[in-house]
Amino acid sequence: MNPLTAQSAHLNTPKAIALLSGGLDSALAAALVKSWGIEVIGLHLTSPFGCETHAEKVAKELNISLITQAKGEAFIDLVSAPTYGYGSQMNPCVDCRIYMFQIAEKIMNEQKADFIVTGEVVGQRPLSQNKANIQLIERKSPLERLVVRPLSGGNLPPTLAEEKGWILRSCLLKISGRGRTEQLALAKQLGISAFSSPGGGCLLTETAFSDRLKDFFSHPTYANSEEKESQAQMLRLGRHFRIHSHLKVIVARTDSENAELLSHWEQSGAQLIEPVNYRGPIAVSLGTPCKEDKTTVAKLLSKYGRKNDEGPFLTRFKSHSSTLQPQEDELISTTEKLAESIIENWRIGIT
Ligand code: SF4
Repeated sequence: MNPLTAQSAHLNTPKAIALLSGGLDSALAAALVKSWGIEVIGLHLTSPFGCETHAEKVAKELNISLITQAKGEAFIDLVSAPTYGYGSQMNPCVDCRIYMFQIAEKIMNEQKADFIVTGEVVGQRPLSQNKANIQLIERKSPLERLVVRPLSGGNLPPTLAEEKGWILRSCLLKISGRGRTEQLALAKQLGISAFSSPGGGCLLTETAFSDRLKDFFSHPTYANSEEKESQAQMLRLGRHFRIHSHLKVIVARTDSENAELLSHWEQSGAQLIEPVNYRGPIAVSLGTPCKEDKTTVAKLLSKYGRKNDEGPFLTRFKSHSSTLQPQEDELISTTEKLAESIIENWRIGIT
């Protein structure tokens, strides 16, 4: 049967929560289920590490409402020690899917929905989308038999939605593997174009980001949840330098990174480092720099700065005050710049 012509098969109007990443597969899955006459609400879970997402655009294009919820601090802890291990980088896909399904189940109950929809394709991701792990994830989450996978459900055991007659098995596709040809053809047929490109995926699958994450977990510099979440958000920003075990510096690369670091530094427990008499980016430092460290960091920042005269570079260090007592800014004057080879040794994860 044509997967787009199944409406007449439904006896009532069930409601589904569709996990929307902003990518092609989840957009197609939601669109198909909607085309079957089922009410669909999108659910987008945001990463504590930050990610570009097209979920809002997709929901708008599909004309469905969208619930956005943060994965939150608990997800950072999950990534640091996943039960089922990592994929090729720091991507704990099995644990991540179980975690997302747990949140989806809560939303499903709150919204009085009947089942969950995902864009999973058997064999697309080696860790979380092989048949055995798809079933393991379902068993370990509270959603056993409640997850409908329109793109590959024809290859999987029947779900409750089929048993209840809300969805016909003949409408479920049997896409498998890593290719995108069938999905792109279906997107054309359904008039879907707002999804993000396959390359714009999860940061946890990227080598450079994973290097930063390993460094973050092995050198914790946060005193509370707010600092931890804020530092996690800064992992994708700027150039990162591990100067020694208790000092990391992040130097902005663009105006927008300057602005983002400025918005995070206080909540993250960092120090803010700014050029005073030269043009250049700002930086933040995490850890406990001594006077000598500050001179090193000032030299590092001035390496990225420009000024017209020959005089020393003046750099300001600003600390966040956790008490009502204002902290004095500190000015450091430097004349020499650091050698490139020293800087390269400190670098973590070039993105
Ligand atoms: S790729 Fe990223 S978001 Fe997707 S399941 Fe794996 S860890 Fe989670």
